[in-house]
Amino acid sequence: MSKRRRIYEGKAKILYEGPEPGLLVQHFKDDATAFNAKKHEVIDGKGVLNNRISEYLFLRLAEIGIPTHFVKRLNMREQLIREVEIIPLEVVVRNIAAGSIAKRLGLEEGTPLPRSIVEFYFKEDKLDDPMVSEEHITAFGWAHPPEIDEMTAMALRINDFMAGLFMGIGIRLVDFKIEFGRLVENDMMRIVLADEISPDSCRLWDVETDDKMDKDRFRRDMGGLVEAYREVAQRLGILPEGDLSREKTGPRLVSSNED
Ligand code: UDP
Repeated sequence: MSKRRRIYEGKAKILYEGPEPGLLVQHFKDDATAFNAKKHEVIDGKGVLNNRISEYLFLRLAEIGIPTHFVKRLNMREQLIREVEIIPLEVVVRNIAAGSIAKRLGLEEGTPLPRSIVEFYFKEDKLDDPMVSEEHITAFGWAHPPEIDEMTAMALRINDFMAGLFMGIGIRLVDFKIEFGRLVENDMMRIVLADEISPDSCRLWDVETDDKMDKDRFRRDMGGLVEAYREVAQRLGILPEGDLSREKTGPRLVSSNED
């Protein structure tokens, strides 16, 4: 339908050129991938929910002074963002052991960590996004030491804020992944939160039941992904009237056999 120039297509999103230089349109697809795209499925309605949830979280984070690339939501699947130079790192913050840290360090999933832990991964699909240290980051020039400090401090603030926000709606923020970009403004360069924050990039567990309300439902073939994401949106109070994601509002999240 649109003749916009496609700048970049990722696994779950497309970036189009924006209405003026310095702006892009971020489009949320319904595609779900895991294990570096070895597993792929199209899940109806996921993109719409992630667009809303990410918009909400970016706006709330801006309210507490976290600079972000977000400008405004354009429609059900798209948001206007500032063009940034993406720092090629995935920044993961963990509160509770799950996923790769549980495997790597032999921790039982669900074990609270002694304190929140920040990790960096090099964004390189060909290498399966390997974990890297500050030494690697500075030696290879992916980011400078002050930038690493800034990303770490911002990641921990984001974690504190989001952990509280989710706890208020009965959800434990187990871990999440964020990305940062460099934004040049009036000859000044600053680091801003970029990409998205959604149940695709977080682990979210129901406080009462430990039900998973995130992409692990897809990774682990548990089903009920859209229902879980819709429940997250509903608890955040952001499900819009007449939205596609309301079509199946009837059923509530049911705990699956795997839980
Ligand atoms: N994550 C992500 N994208 C990635 C890798 C991880 O959004 O490419 C998120 C993931 O959803 C989880 C957190 O980062 O919330 C930590 O993921 P982990 O290192 O445990 O890896 P996984 O078990 O997902 O492979």
